Amino acid sequence: MDFDLSDDLIAVRDGAREFAERELLPRAAASDEAEAFVEAQWKACGEAGWAGMSIPEAYGGQGLSAVATSLALAELSRACAATGVTVSVHLGLCSAALVRWGNEEQRRRYLPRLASGEWLGAYALSEAGSGSDAAALRCAATPDGAGGFVLDGSKLWITSGDHANLVVVFARTSNESKAKGITAFLVETSWPGVQPGKKEKKMGIRGSSTVEMRLDRVRVPAANVLGEVNQGFSVAMGLLDGGRIGIACQALGIAQACLEASVKYAKEREQFGQPIASFESIQWKLAEMALRIDAARLLILRAAWLKDQGRPHTREASMAKLDASRTADFCAKEAVQVHGGAGYTKEFPVERYFRDARITEIYEGTTEIQNLVIAREVLRG
Ligand SMILES: Cc1cc2nc3c(=O)[nH]c(=O)nc-3n(C[C@H](O)[C@H](O)[C@H](O)COP(=O)(O)OP(=O)(O)OC[C@H]3O[C@@H](n4cnc5c(N)ncnc54)[C@H](O)[C@@H]3O)c2cc1C
Repeated sequence: MDFDLSDDLIAVRDGAREFAERELLPRAAASDEAEAFVEAQWKACGEAGWAGMSIPEAYGGQGLSAVATSLALAELSRACAATGVTVSVHLGLCSAALVRWGNEEQRRRYLPRLASGEWLGAYALSEAGSGSDAAALRCAATPDGAGGFVLDGSKLWITSGDHANLVVVFARTSNESKAKGITAFLVETSWPGVQPGKKEKKMGIRGSSTVEMRLDRVRVPAANVLGEVNQGFSVAMGLLDGGRIGIACQALGIAQACLEASVKYAKEREQFGQPIASFESIQWKLAEMALRIDAARLLILRAAWLKDQGRPHTREASMAKLDASRTADFCAKEAVQVHGGAGYTKEFPVERYFRDARITEIYEGTTEIQNLVIAREVLRG
C-alpha cells in the first residue's frame, strides 16, 4: 500500500496544472460570461496533447493511465470546469467507446483525429423522454437493406453537440426488449440529416455547449455500427463507469478551486481588526472543505486504479462521482459564505464555481441514480 504518487504521475499532474493556469484560467470567466464555447481552450488542449491523453499511443494519443488522466482532468477543471467537461466527454464517452468497442478499422479511422484535437467527440444517449431511464430511448434505427441503418429522432442535452465532429449515438434497433434493443452508432456530424437544434441557456459551465441534436433520416453505413447490434445499452453503461470518474474529477477540481480561493480570501479579509481566518467558524469551514476534498480524491484514485487494473469499478466509480459532486456543491456553498457579500458578485470566481458545481450532481447519472447503482451493488453482496 502506497499513497505517494510516482514521479511520472506528479509530472502529469504538475504539467496539467501549469498548462491550465496558463491557457485555461485566464479565459474561464470570459467564456462563462459570454456563454461562448471554450474554443481557444479546446484548441490549446489539442496542441498540448491533453485532448488525446488517454488514447493509446498507437493511435496518436499519450496513452496515459486512468489514474494519470484523473489527476490531469481535475487540474483542467480547477482552472475551467467547462473545459474539464468538454475534455472528459471527448475522451471518456466518445474516444473510449472506440478504444473499447471499436474494431481496428474504426479505431484507425477516427482515433488519430480525436487524439490530436482536430476532431471533438460527443455522446448522445439522452432524449426528452429518457434521462435517468435511459433505456426508454426512442430514437429509431431502421435497417437500410445494405447492412447499415437510417436514424430518425432527436437527442437532448448533448455536450459539445454543435462543435463535435463525431458522436456516439444510441438508437433503438428492436422493440422486443427495452435495454436489449439499443445499438451504438458512430455518427459524423457532417453527414446529411444531422442538425444541432436548440442550444440550452444554462446556470453554469456556460463555456460548454449543450444542444439538442436532430437526426433526420441519417444514413449510417454498416462500417459505423459500434459493437454488436442490440448490445448498445451495455456500451452506454460501460462508458458511463469511466465517464463518471471524469465528472468526479471535474467536481474535485471545482472543490479544490473553492478551497484555495477561500483560504486566500480568509487570510486577506479583515473584520474586527483581524483576518477572518482567525475566527474559528471560518477555520471549521476550511477544515471541512479540506477533509471532503481529500476523501473525494481518494475515492477517485481508487476507482481509476481499479479501471487501470481492468477490474470491475461500477460501484467505485459511482461512489467517487456521488461523493465528489456533493463535495463540489458543499465547497462552493461554503466558499461563497467565506467571501460574504463579495462572494455573491462576479468580482470573485466563487460565484462561478457555485453555479458550475451544481451540474456535477446531475449529469452522467444524478445523485439519486448513483445511490441506486451503489445500492444495487451492495445488495448483490
Ligand atoms: C449540462 C448538461 C449536459 C449533459 N450532457 C449530456 C450528454 O453529453 N449526453 C447525454 O446523453 N446526456 C447529457 N445530459 C443529460 C443528463 O445525463 C440527464 O439530464 C440526467 O441523466 C438526468 O436526466 P433528466 O434530466 O431527464 O432528469 P430525470 O430523469 O427526469 O430526473 C428528474 C429527477 O428525478 C430523479 N429520479 C429519476 N429517476 C429516479 C429513480 N428511479 N429513483 C429516484 N430518483 C429518480 C432524478 O434523480 C432527478 O432528481 C446532460 C445534461 C445536462 C444538464
